Amino acid sequence: VKTFLASVSFAAVLAAAGPLAAQDAPPQPQPLPPSSEIPFPRDVAYPGTIGLQVDATDLDRRIFNVHETIPVTGPGPMTLLYPKWLPGNHGPTGPIDKFAGLIIHAGGQRVEWTRDPVDVYAFHVNVPQGATQLDVEFQFLSPTEQRQGRIVVAPEMLNVEWNAVVLYPAGYFSRDIMFAPSVKLPTGWTPATALEVEPVHDKTLPDVTYFKNTSLNTLVDSPLIAGRYYRQFDLDPGGPARVSLDVIADKPEQLDATPAQIDIHKQLVQQAYKLYGSHHYNHYDFLFSLSDQMGGNGLEHHQSSEDGTTPTYFTEWDKNAASRDLLAHEYTHSWNGKFRRPADLWTPNFNVPMRDSLLWVYEGQTQYWGYVLAARSGLLTRQQTLDAIAGVAATYDHRIGREWRALEDTTEDPILSMRRPEPWRSWQRSEDYYSEGQLIWLDADTKIRELTHGQKSLDDFARAFFGVHNGSFVTDPYRFEDVVATLNSVAPYDWAGFLRTRLLGHGPGAPLDGIARGGYRLIYTDTPSSYEKSANARRKSEDFTYSIGLNLNHEGAIGDVLWNSPAFKVGLIAGAQIVAVNGVAFDPEDLKTAITAAKAGSAPIELLIKDGKRYRTVAIDYHGGLRYPHLERDPAVPARLDDILAPRK
Ligand SMILES: [Zn+2]
Repeated sequence: VKTFLASVSFAAVLAAAGPLAAQDAPPQPQPLPPSSEIPFPRDVAYPGTIGLQVDATDLDRRIFNVHETIPVTGPGPMTLLYPKWLPGNHGPTGPIDKFAGLIIHAGGQRVEWTRDPVDVYAFHVNVPQGATQLDVEFQFLSPTEQRQGRIVVAPEMLNVEWNAVVLYPAGYFSRDIMFAPSVKLPTGWTPATALEVEPVHDKTLPDVTYFKNTSLNTLVDSPLIAGRYYRQFDLDPGGPARVSLDVIADKPEQLDATPAQIDIHKQLVQQAYKLYGSHHYNHYDFLFSLSDQMGGNGLEHHQSSEDGTTPTYFTEWDKNAASRDLLAHEYTHSWNGKFRRPADLWTPNFNVPMRDSLLWVYEGQTQYWGYVLAARSGLLTRQQTLDAIAGVAATYDHRIGREWRALEDTTEDPILSMRRPEPWRSWQRSEDYYSEGQLIWLDADTKIRELTHGQKSLDDFARAFFGVHNGSFVTDPYRFEDVVATLNSVAPYDWAGFLRTRLLGHGPGAPLDGIARGGYRLIYTDTPSSYEKSANARRKSEDFTYSIGLNLNHEGAIGDVLWNSPAFKVGLIAGAQIVAVNGVAFDPEDLKTAITAAKAGSAPIELLIKDGKRYRTVAIDYHGGLRYPHLERDPAVPARLDDILAPRK
């Protein structure tokens, strides 16, 4: 017993030793309490109107100088926000790294600011006694070369996105904060924007354009382009609302659109009206920049879109088919995305996080209508559109990443990836809700046509879903159930199941039923379509994705390797370079010849690869020949896809 007691007391000593030892060690860290509070937005009017003057005349240094006057009602703490979550970007992409030079005064006295230690987009100030307004100065620094970001000031044009040149008070819905904006432009430059110009102003200065007071919501939704060379085309003379194609270009001759080209763009407006049976703007401006100096862009707004593309858009029409769904896509967003918007994506201001779960409607159906309206208006021929759809079908049929990652999860990509280049795109996936969404909506369209024996189509869905409240551009939010209910109102079916299968499934392969029901099948031949050829020529690339499993530029630098492809199996990666093909210095044409020759025999294709400082030879044991996607008509099935692409009378 004694021994037992002794052992117990020894155990008790041992047990006590643990905590004693821990008291000697440094304590585990604990979090500090939150250090500051940013008021959550409320739906009440901000008192007063904020003056916002942007000086955009520093073309040499590409700097926008900003002066803001922010009325205040009394002394005390106040938080100013720089927009972080940008509509249309669907992510936290506000260019805070290009924001500089913040100096604040009140009544002639400097007011120090402190950046929020957690949210770097928030600035705290203490408004001094007696102040009636804050005088705020800062700059937005345009990238001066592409690796810094999208260049927004070029020698002959510029692009003011107001979210980049504004601070606004925290605590209010963005629709409740009023602004009086103005912009000073280089002498002789013409601005284009959906903002309405204030023609008479008692403080009129040369080269300054004053705009009517507008809410922060509409301000951020109404960017401005300006250029030395400018031309405006009226796309809907006598229509229900002015629709303008506002073109700026690097060179004056690039503005030379032919009457036939402009007629096609007019048709885009008419075909959109026939599809949606409504419009959701007071006026609409395509802010169309043709440049290889300023960065390209495609960004939707209620009453305008920023559309930046190749300088030869008009002058080399035949080479640029692959850029011609851009305007139809961005225009469609006025209905799908801006007017009707996923309820979880709508936010009360630009610093509340967005949720992107329904982007397969917002972007996916817009991608679908973008191609359909491009075909119906004549921006693309039927054949070009079929070729484009073939390319989409092949890409997503080889998207092996669906094995682990369902399509719906790719709606998080604007937040988690922000379009950074990826080492293994086919495995990682990337914003696949756009183009795989397009295939799903083709699937739905042909399904409705089949169910209703051709009496109804996705056009009826578009009219029912987007055609409400004609003329209004007050955002009308929706949820998954609303999409399903509208589909059911067009043609009763298990639409929830139909969509969930495609959004949450793991394949194999892409949803290609819409192509089959449309009267076509996806095939591969040894020759690319002329649409694909011109798209590759623009990118200066060659696509061997469906043969050896990679694409590359004309110097042999590999852009992407398809997961599990022959190129993958010999260890090729994006960033490596093919230096020689079968012992001869690289030439894209010779690679084609080698792939074709390997089809006839059993010898592998030998590639000399440079990967960093290492050279090595790989043997690709591939004998399937060149393969490029096409759609082939299936005469056993009605040509529903042809009907979809035909102009509405
Ligand atoms: Zn879009």
